[in-house]
Amino acid sequence: MADTTFDLVILGSGSGGYAAALRASQLGMSVALIERDKLGGTCLHRGCIPTKALLHSAEVADTAKEAGNYGVQATFQGIDMTQVNKYRDSIVDKLYKGLTGLVSSKNITFVEGEGRMTGPKQVTVGTDVYEGKNLVLATGSISKTLGIEITGRVITSDQALQMDWVPKKVAILGGGVIGVEFASVWRSFGSEVVIIEGLDRLVPNEEPAISKALDRAYRKRGIESKLGNKFKAVTQTADEVTIELENGDKVTADILLVAVGRGPNATGFGYEEQGVHMERGWVLTNDRLETNLPGVYAVGDIVPGLQLAHRGFMHGIFVAEEIAGLGPMKVDEMGIPRVTYCEPEIASVGLTEDQAKEKFGAEGISTYEYNLAGNGKSNILGTAGVIKLIRQINGPVVGFHMIGSRAGEQIGEAQLIVNWEAYPEDVAPHIHAHPTMNEAIGEAHLALAGKPLHAHA
Ligand SMILES: Cc1cc2nc3c(=O)[nH]c(=O)nc-3n(C[C@H](O)[C@H](O)[C@H](O)COP(=O)(O)OP(=O)(O)OC[C@H]3O[C@@H](n4cnc5c(N)ncnc54)[C@H](O)[C@@H]3O)c2cc1C
Repeated sequence: MADTTFDLVILGSGSGGYAAALRASQLGMSVALIERDKLGGTCLHRGCIPTKALLHSAEVADTAKEAGNYGVQATFQGIDMTQVNKYRDSIVDKLYKGLTGLVSSKNITFVEGEGRMTGPKQVTVGTDVYEGKNLVLATGSISKTLGIEITGRVITSDQALQMDWVPKKVAILGGGVIGVEFASVWRSFGSEVVIIEGLDRLVPNEEPAISKALDRAYRKRGIESKLGNKFKAVTQTADEVTIELENGDKVTADILLVAVGRGPNATGFGYEEQGVHMERGWVLTNDRLETNLPGVYAVGDIVPGLQLAHRGFMHGIFVAEEIAGLGPMKVDEMGIPRVTYCEPEIASVGLTEDQAKEKFGAEGISTYEYNLAGNGKSNILGTAGVIKLIRQINGPVVGFHMIGSRAGEQIGEAQLIVNWEAYPEDVAPHIHAHPTMNEAIGEAHLALAGKPLHAHA
């Protein structure tokens, strides 16, 4: 039985937890990092990395199918899921090995086992007690299921990532980020795909113009969307699964992916018993990520807001620096870049047009849409899409929204523009290399600054 005191005890070693551990150890703190599964959490093992590897296999499949259009003789013969999974696992394993090496090279005690909060700054694993001067709660999130039983042909992203076969027909409940990403993978792998979304558009958290463009692109790809349709019941046999919708429609498929969002994984670990303020399962914090208990912080997906790995990383860094007394800059939720890695990709940061109108008034903003049809590199790649910018009148760019192949790679500049509160007039004189997709950002800002080049004003 260990009874050990650390500067910082962290429960959960996903993006938020391990980032806090690494930064705290850089700052000279002793750290206990407690994990019941694998270092790296959802992002590395069941989220960002494995799904993006699948999406890359999907991109290669599309390239092979379309090779003839570019004068390259190639034939697409099918998907070898054993090799797809081998490739995906090799990426995860390599990153896992690297992260394990990084953590073990620091003053971080990695504790394997399920932890439970048993005191204001104390976690117990089995019979071992870990006492911290400070405690960080970082137990992440799990798939929501709307009460649908996850079994057999009804799966979440966790089981989807374990599949070693390509379904002929897939139904996806939920047109948010995870739903549209898996739709993209399976369509490229040759499946028939139907997305069922209760709201009236795909990716409902994005700017409506982006949802519209994705809808158009998905229709062109042969992905069917049933929008504004809520599910009523799900039944399955040994051979198929049937989803009945409230409007009476029925969809039958080999697999139903339930992708209706993720909820906090914060109950059953003693938080409430120790007096941590919680609401509908979420851990509540102030804007410095401290809970109502002094010295107890929460980071990542258990804190209400965007459930993204890079938000978790920044939460972790912030909390370590806060505890060290460095007074770090608050994590601004609106400044967090968002990328959806379907084909075509979506990249956005800042306010949507409606949010900007609410903040500055309808007369207080102006918008500009730059169509990628005017961008040389987009034509070369054969992608369609748009960049929509929102600016405050006589003020900075407050919203950036883009759709097109590889759009995610453009988010870096976009997030600097929005977060540094640049005016279009500040961006316009900076030269963007030709021919790149990045050039479209330059063109959109030139246009918004009143001097369009390859665009109609
Ligand atoms: C399919 C999918 C795709 C995604 N793609 C992206 C993407 O492309 N980009 C992006 O930014 N985000 C993506 N995400 C979201 C991203 O994975 C999460 O935002 C991120 O992992 C959150 O980090 P976290 O540290 O809060 O939690 P987690 O990564 O979930 O880590 C929590 C850890 O705590 C451990 N734990 C829980 N309870 C206990 C306990 N009692 N004792 C010990 N250990 C415990 C868990 O085992 C886990 O390892 C994706 C998620 C999914 C599911």
